[in-house]
Amino acid sequence: MTSEVRVRFAPSPTGYLHVGGARTALFNWLYARHCKGTFVLRIEDTDKARNSKEAVQVILDGLRWLGMDWDEGPSMGGEYGPYFQSERENIYQRYFDQLEAGGHLYLDNGAWRFRSLREVVVVDDMICGRIEFDLSNHETHPDMTIRRPDGSWIFHFVNVVDDIEMRISHVIRGEDHLSNTPKHLELFKALGKPAPRYAHIPLILNKDGSKMSKRDEGASITSYIDGGFVPEAVKNYLTLLGWSPKDGREKLEIEEVVQLFDLEKVNRKNAHFDIDKCVWLSGQYMSSLTLERFAELCSPFLVGTDAEGLEAAKLQPVLALVKEKVKTFAEVPAAISYFFTEDYSFEPEASEKALNQPGASARLNALATAFEKVADWSPESIEAALKATAVELGVKAGSLVLPTRVAVSGRGSGPSLYHMMEVLGRECSIRRIRQTADSKAA
Ligand code: GLU
Repeated sequence: MTSEVRVRFAPSPTGYLHVGGARTALFNWLYARHCKGTFVLRIEDTDKARNSKEAVQVILDGLRWLGMDWDEGPSMGGEYGPYFQSERENIYQRYFDQLEAGGHLYLDNGAWRFRSLREVVVVDDMICGRIEFDLSNHETHPDMTIRRPDGSWIFHFVNVVDDIEMRISHVIRGEDHLSNTPKHLELFKALGKPAPRYAHIPLILNKDGSKMSKRDEGASITSYIDGGFVPEAVKNYLTLLGWSPKDGREKLEIEEVVQLFDLEKVNRKNAHFDIDKCVWLSGQYMSSLTLERFAELCSPFLVGTDAEGLEAAKLQPVLALVKEKVKTFAEVPAAISYFFTEDYSFEPEASEKALNQPGASARLNALATAFEKVADWSPESIEAALKATAVELGVKAGSLVLPTRVAVSGRGSGPSLYHMMEVLGRECSIRRIRQTADSKAA
């Protein structure tokens, strides 16, 4: 017996990675990293009808996006492979023969059933505690099928065989599998092998307490990828679904979670999913991203916009202005659009308030003239010129800010005005102010 911690995530490729599955993967990954053990990825693809390359790819992409690297599994290999159940036929046959030779199996209408040992089975779960399952009643606990008449294998059997073969020390999985565990323990016993420790993680429910289904918002990891969430934030959010540090902090670097994580500290109560908190966390993570990484993660969202393919020198100063204002990368195209087109639209409400005022046009022209004389085009000088113009015109500086903002961006809010004008450039800012004064202001 080795004391090495070996855990596995064992998804069935159904075509999407559910947030609950990703959380199970993450708790396995965290436990492996915490214990300096091994994280195995095993694809449970015995269901031939649903099994496809694309369905597996969705899982691999999701795990990679979340930064959960596996030590053994698809594209990594390892000592106990293959890591696709569909490629382990002869291993299953060997274990099947052993069970048959031991008198544990019988044929029933072409299917093979395992003769239950008819005992009280104790599951000593690291999260749920000690639970007794009385399997003595044949009516309530019929003998499980392990092989179908067409020769294909049933989940319970291959799952146990692989946990034996892959030397799994801890099975960490969703609580929906708790009722399967006594059956699995019977198989371990019949095969004469020690069972792993079990840790069943409570379910993830919707905010209203209903069970999370495939169609619920945030249920699929692909929706976070496509929705432009910061991957580190989603990973952080998933850790909070059933676990939290003693001091209740919510934003935690993953290295710290790896240090603090333990199965005994996983909450026994069901977790409640809150998409708004996940969006909020994503926004919180924007400030910790370097500008380079922010730009890299933005780039798929800029495809098809005026900002697509722009050189870093043009794009990055603009991205720097909005980086901490957006919560997801999907918000970036709209937040920066007016930087890259002269055809920017004007928000009606902001225009009405800022431009449709007596004398607005004259004030904008006075500002443009002042900006033409600014020696160096820095935020400080731009601000000074605006303030000096206010004094000249006998108005409050504050009253010039909104009209200028609306003139150069078309919007009532956005990044700091002076920094925004610095990035737009002198020529562009002045041109936009004059044009607005001529065509839109009263
Ligand atoms: N393939 C099973 C599932 O996706 C794995 C269960 C387990 O982790 O043992 O639910």
